[in-house]
Amino acid sequence: MGTRFKMILYAVNAETARQAADAAFARIAQLDNIMSDYRETSELMRLSQQAGQAPVRVSDDLFRILVKSQEVAQQTQGAFDVTVGPLVQLWRRARRTREMPDPERLAEAQALTGYRMLHLDEKAQTVRLDKRGMRLDLGGIAKGYAADVALAILKQRGIGQALVAGGGDIAVSEPPPGLPGWTIGIAPLEAPDRPPPRRLRLVNAAVSTSGDAEQHVEIGGIRYAHIIDPKTGMGLMGQRSVTVVAANGTTADALATAVCVLGPERGLKVIGAVDGAAALFVEATPRGERTFESARWKAIPRE
Ligand code: AMP
Ligand code: MG
Repeated sequence: MGTRFKMILYAVNAETARQAADAAFARIAQLDNIMSDYRETSELMRLSQQAGQAPVRVSDDLFRILVKSQEVAQQTQGAFDVTVGPLVQLWRRARRTREMPDPERLAEAQALTGYRMLHLDEKAQTVRLDKRGMRLDLGGIAKGYAADVALAILKQRGIGQALVAGGGDIAVSEPPPGLPGWTIGIAPLEAPDRPPPRRLRLVNAAVSTSGDAEQHVEIGGIRYAHIIDPKTGMGLMGQRSVTVVAANGTTADALATAVCVLGPERGLKVIGAVDGAAALFVEATPRGERTFESARWKAIPRE
């Protein structure tokens, strides 16, 4: 998944803590083997290689994450779309070479993108991709899912007070002993290394931040993010950061990516329709930061 996972957990003794953490990390490694798009042999890559052919039966994890992905695609009118793989590849290359993707190849990649060309059969647990050359990319949802799964493993082992973080995707269970919640700081858009001015206090919830802070490329004075608008095939332009709080990591992760694409007005409307979700949208403008908050954002307890 291209990131480092961290856990904080409280247990009755060190040995219990170590064994539980080992089990949770092993499960994350297993998920990485399934969902990585850097590894040609991952289950996800093998599935993409079957695009345009017969349906493929997949593992429980892969099926579950694809079901959720399609749900969010529908909720966001396709702003979140795990079939963006071909476009992601082109923009990844653009980040390396600092050259705009070739318009013809962009058009080709866009023709291979569209969540309606991804079909799931619940009964048979199979996946079918309509066109040869399609490629799935779970970069916008896999870390949140892995955080949820790791928390569940810890819980199975009797550890109900934990935090799991995979990059900007964090899921928490009950708070540390004696504390009302887990304190999560949200890095400011400019100067992300400064102490975070906004601090949330979370219990049994998840928070994800998406944006171009870590991955973008500047070409001809324009900044393009690693998040792609499936409608245009273009990397998002301009500097923005979206933080979503939701009941679980999978939801928070996917929605944060989607709201980046949708922009503040449409994005926060979508958030308002998801039970228990809240979002903060921060955008850089020539006159400084502009922030937008969803209706429920203010109700989240702070430090
Ligand atoms: P995140 O950091 O969770 O916002 O995920 C960003 C990653 O999601 C990118 O690096 C791509 O791998 C993938 N991605 C890019 N655009 C989209 C999109 N519109 N829908 C779903 N996944 C995307
Ligand atoms: Mg995401």
